[in-house]
Amino acid sequence: MSKVEAAAAHPPGDRVAYTTCYMCACRCGIKVHLKDGGVRYIEGNRDHPVNRGVMCAKGAAGIMQQHSPARLMKPLLRVGPRGSGEFREIEWDEALALATDWLGAIRKSDPRKLAFFTGRDQSQALTGWWASQFGTPNYAAHGGFCSVNMAAAGLYSVGGSFWEFGEPDWERTRYFLLFGVAEDHDSNPIKIGLAKLRRRGVKIVSVNPVRTGYSAIADEWLGIRPGTDGLLVFALIHELLRLERIDVAFIARYTDASWLVIRNPGQADDGLFARDAEGHALAWDTRRDAPVDAQAADVVPRLAGEVVLPDGRRAVPVLHLLAERYLDAQYAPDAVAERCGIAAETIRRIARELATAAFEQEIALDVPWTDSAGRRHTKMIGRPVSMHAMRGISAHSNGFHACRAIHVLQMLLGAIDTPGAWRYKSPYPRPLTAAQKPAGHAHQVTPGQPLSGPPLGFPLAPEDLLVERDGTPRRLDKAFSWEAPLALHGLMHMVIRNAWAGDPYPIDTLFLYMANMAWNSAMNTAETTRMLTDKGADGAYKIPRIIYSDAFYSEMVAYADLVLPDTTYLERWDCISLLDRPIGHAEGPADAIRQPVLKPDRDVRPFQDVLIDLGARLGLPALVTAGGKPRYRDYADYIVRHERKPGIGPLAGWRGAQGEHVAVGAPNPQQLERYVANGCFWTHRLPAEQLYYKFANRAYLEGAVQMGFIERARPIVLHLYSEELQNFRLAGLGHGSVQPPEHLRRRIATYFDPLPIWYVPLEEAAIDRDAFSLHAVTQRPMPMYHSWGSQNAWLRQIYNQNRLYVHRRTAEALGLGDDDWVHVVSAHHRVKCRIRLVDGVNPDTVWTWNAVAKRAGAWNLAPDAAEATRAFLLNPAISDLLPPGDEPRHANADPVTGQAAWYDLRVRIEPAEADAADSAALPPLRVPPGLAPRPPRLPRREARR
Ligand code: SF4
Repeated sequence: MSKVEAAAAHPPGDRVAYTTCYMCACRCGIKVHLKDGGVRYIEGNRDHPVNRGVMCAKGAAGIMQQHSPARLMKPLLRVGPRGSGEFREIEWDEALALATDWLGAIRKSDPRKLAFFTGRDQSQALTGWWASQFGTPNYAAHGGFCSVNMAAAGLYSVGGSFWEFGEPDWERTRYFLLFGVAEDHDSNPIKIGLAKLRRRGVKIVSVNPVRTGYSAIADEWLGIRPGTDGLLVFALIHELLRLERIDVAFIARYTDASWLVIRNPGQADDGLFARDAEGHALAWDTRRDAPVDAQAADVVPRLAGEVVLPDGRRAVPVLHLLAERYLDAQYAPDAVAERCGIAAETIRRIARELATAAFEQEIALDVPWTDSAGRRHTKMIGRPVSMHAMRGISAHSNGFHACRAIHVLQMLLGAIDTPGAWRYKSPYPRPLTAAQKPAGHAHQVTPGQPLSGPPLGFPLAPEDLLVERDGTPRRLDKAFSWEAPLALHGLMHMVIRNAWAGDPYPIDTLFLYMANMAWNSAMNTAETTRMLTDKGADGAYKIPRIIYSDAFYSEMVAYADLVLPDTTYLERWDCISLLDRPIGHAEGPADAIRQPVLKPDRDVRPFQDVLIDLGARLGLPALVTAGGKPRYRDYADYIVRHERKPGIGPLAGWRGAQGEHVAVGAPNPQQLERYVANGCFWTHRLPAEQLYYKFANRAYLEGAVQMGFIERARPIVLHLYSEELQNFRLAGLGHGSVQPPEHLRRRIATYFDPLPIWYVPLEEAAIDRDAFSLHAVTQRPMPMYHSWGSQNAWLRQIYNQNRLYVHRRTAEALGLGDDDWVHVVSAHHRVKCRIRLVDGVNPDTVWTWNAVAKRAGAWNLAPDAAEATRAFLLNPAISDLLPPGDEPRHANADPVTGQAAWYDLRVRIEPAEADAADSAALPPLRVPPGLAPRPPRLPRREARR
């Protein structure tokens, strides 16, 4: 009998329930084996489109979430000072009545005084909509802390992005280039993909200062200096342009390469596209020797040289500008090599390898298709070069432009959604011009009324910013203001500081969900906890009220006034929606649900149920009936019956009264049952002719309209050049009716360049680089996801302490050896830790695992737990503000998107005595009442149940 047969003969439980994992952001399908009311075993669902049965250590350890002594048991009301951990248990009625009182008063007077921010929440289609119903624009999730640079750069360039809105063509790619990818995002899907590449012998090149995880199995590791990725990409582009190894036919047809850009220095139209009377961008047709609609089917465009438009203005095609910029000697491999820490010859070789894979290993699929201009193609031509990027690019203050540079590189190679290249995950691509704008203008915020739009959106020009007449931000986090115009995901990292300072205005209630803002989700943890507890002259807290929902006793819980305990992911309904961050893939759309496979054994409620309940108690219009009764019984009821537009709801599968419709259709009362019967997911495979060139594939675009993904079947032009950025830049230069305040004018004019630029990361530019000679970065270990792993008995056995990893040569030059104690000193703070010598790191960079350390007392860990005594957090050394200089001080963030720039950190290391005080240490937290006793060891029978 084989092992598989033996396992099948002795199943670990007596019942199997399908659901979706939530031990990280990948949302794999899982089979939960249950026995005697407990979980015995979790395995991957082989049919699921995300993981195809693959499980990781985190996912398998989901069992231990159910046994965690850190689980909150009951609503809590603070009775001691904030941060003391002194609470009393209260009933849900009291908790909800209190929250309704607090929030109801705010809504009647000024809804902006509620700031509602969520962490790694996978229900943002609900939470954002709820904020909008409440009437506050002060809403976002944690994307501004995580990867908004990557998302914004992609969406403003190609109408999709790496990770959630795109993936490599794992089956066909012949060269794979990763930028700044650690193991914590896109976990199982990327591992499955990498395994496919290894089997096919595809070359994997990883650009990363640290050689762990994916970099460790790459064929080639380029240990780049942090924050210089954009320069490296420019050098690759320089080489490809110099060698004339770009896909001219692709960029002429599908990008804006031929679009004419007006050259009129100093005038309001400088740098904008030349357009006809109907607003169509113009290209210069070489046959007619005249400007024509750039998207006309028969245009043979000019791609270089200046032209004179009929009205006398001068213009040049985008490709001309692009070549002018990147062929400049400053971007030659020899010019950037030292700064990037990568040899010029290596850069030249990588450029040649990219070109060889793209053009000499061209793929031609025998799949006829028709493009949006009506041209029939007999084959799908592919450039089999794939790229993927993540936080190593994103978390720098120059990350937006670095990520846009990667997309420009892809476009020049013809490697966007072609066979073998990076592909859109359905329902992307989406056109930027059709995207919603953020709501929050003065006329959109009315006491007692919903916001007249979503709090988050896509500004295209200064008129879309949420600012007062004098340029003052209208949002608490200053998103969509001149300080961070394209802050698509908000600036969660600035919320506590701004609320504490009353800048731009004081708020009443900070409502947080699953966001450990008092620990690893804060820059400068000690300062953040001080702000959470700071009082004014009247003795009242400067942030008057804090409501927090979490399933576990995380560090943030101790700072809440009211705690609403959440369930685990195995105890609730949930929906992974196309309205939010879907699990679709390149072959077609997909979404999924979670179902409760366990009943909570404590007095906790799913946060989404609580939000629906609170909304009804507050009388939010879409959450009550005409008679004022609750419209939805709970979140499960909302998932089935809510319609965002007619026929479009949270789930796309089995719509219509009988489940007969795909994506668009009336609510189906049996929809959840259909999902459960299908393993808790739905997927729809696109026909072969729709699988590539989605941005210009007529069949795909028409199908996408029918499925409600886009409004019109118009081509989605890929943008080498961003006219939207130029709109802002022109304002910085003094043009237009909406103007930045004087102190931000130069910043806007500098960073809103329509072609990608590179600049020294802002903190690095502002400090003495000789005094802080090392870069410092963090990443999460493969078995951990944010701070969740540290109360999980199985995952704690993999990592419960961390070291600062230092290059062997660097350490030896400082006279340091393995396990020596050091102080990591930044311009803001110092942190004490021990080091470990390694070879796989850029010599000018130190790094560590993030979020392994825990504050003593938090998570109901033993006072002497390794997480509190032998692990350390680098966050206290990171500032949320740039060093003093320009006043007022700017956020330590990307000036385009507001992305937290926590990878810009510069430090030095100094030897320390083992018993030296650690100035970053915070006093232990008290464990609140009601938590389960902490078992000295996990009983064997518990582990088996
Ligand atoms: S990759 Fe993430 S979602 Fe998938 S099994 Fe692992 S923890 Fe769960």
